[in-house]
Amino acid sequence: MPSTPGEPSFQGATTTMRQAIIRAPDRFEVVSVPMPKAQGPGEVVVRTAACGICSGDLMPWYLARKVGTVLGHEMVGWAVEVGAAVQGVNAGDLLFFHHHAPCLDCEHCRRNAHVHCEAWRRSKIDPGGMAEWIRVPADIVCRDAFPVNDLAPEQALFIEPLGCSVKALGRIPSGVQGSFGVVVGCGIMGMLNLMTARALGAAKLVAVEPDDHRRALAPRFGARAALTPQEAGEQLKHQADWVVIGPGHPAVITQSLNYVRPGGTAVLFTPTATSVRTELDLGELYFREVSLVPSYSCGPLDTRAAYNLLRCGAVDPQPLITHRFPLEQVQRAFETARAGGAALKVVVVLSEARP
Ligand SMILES: [Zn+2]
Ligand SMILES: [Zn+2]
Repeated sequence: MPSTPGEPSFQGATTTMRQAIIRAPDRFEVVSVPMPKAQGPGEVVVRTAACGICSGDLMPWYLARKVGTVLGHEMVGWAVEVGAAVQGVNAGDLLFFHHHAPCLDCEHCRRNAHVHCEAWRRSKIDPGGMAEWIRVPADIVCRDAFPVNDLAPEQALFIEPLGCSVKALGRIPSGVQGSFGVVVGCGIMGMLNLMTARALGAAKLVAVEPDDHRRALAPRFGARAALTPQEAGEQLKHQADWVVIGPGHPAVITQSLNYVRPGGTAVLFTPTATSVRTELDLGELYFREVSLVPSYSCGPLDTRAAYNLLRCGAVDPQPLITHRFPLEQVQRAFETARAGGAALKVVVVLSEARP
């Protein structure tokens, strides 16, 4: 008997669940697999509530590396099975858990550069975000998971992407408070970067975005003005204290460097595929003293800061959710997110209610 979507089914001795496998960079398949089981007393097994599609999940080169694995890393769910050694998590808690967790002990961790920790890179959830049940291993339970019972699941799934915004803006040496910032690209992450910068006290924010619909929305999320790239080229030359550059395309990055004032900072927010090269006018960057600061993912300090921004209402990202799909329609969810335009945050809903 086929399993009913959304409910674990009991087939003899095994219990199965549904999960979304990446078959090709643009093709996903929902399959039945055995439910994950806790493998030690420090683990938690979660009933997934929802999982957002990240802009990173739309990059073909990234997906090509992930073929055969389960899509998704912006998930939240209810703790169902909580190991005897787990502290601070109770069965029934709405649980945030990050997709990676650092050791908190190595040289990188001591500098709060958690994404460079070997343990961070090795750690992973089982099997991935778009699965009805997820096993959270002990290292993640201990070091980057916490109950978020005062949030709705659709707020909590923003902790991870918001953590990336918090980290990126935190890497601007002159700070965000009172600053003039430019956010390039008004997809979901650009909008979150605007909201976060506003919450952190930016004095003036300008968005740059070619899509008319997205440009029209940007003021709602904190931009004082929203410009086309051409307008930005004419109006923003050497103006901004900092620029957060969303798209990882070399042409967008090189154009955006031009908006940075002397001594200012350009944050490279999105990964560009390794080996992509571009030309930079090094002398021009040198004499203007423009800092290029990449910001990759986020760590436990950032996820906690993101949680605090959400729970106190300083950032309210729920209006960014434009589409919801059940797991069985993950292909449509992906295509909707990839089409861009009016689609901002696309969420796959795996369970409507606490089990
Ligand atoms: Zn992501
Ligand atoms: Zn470490």
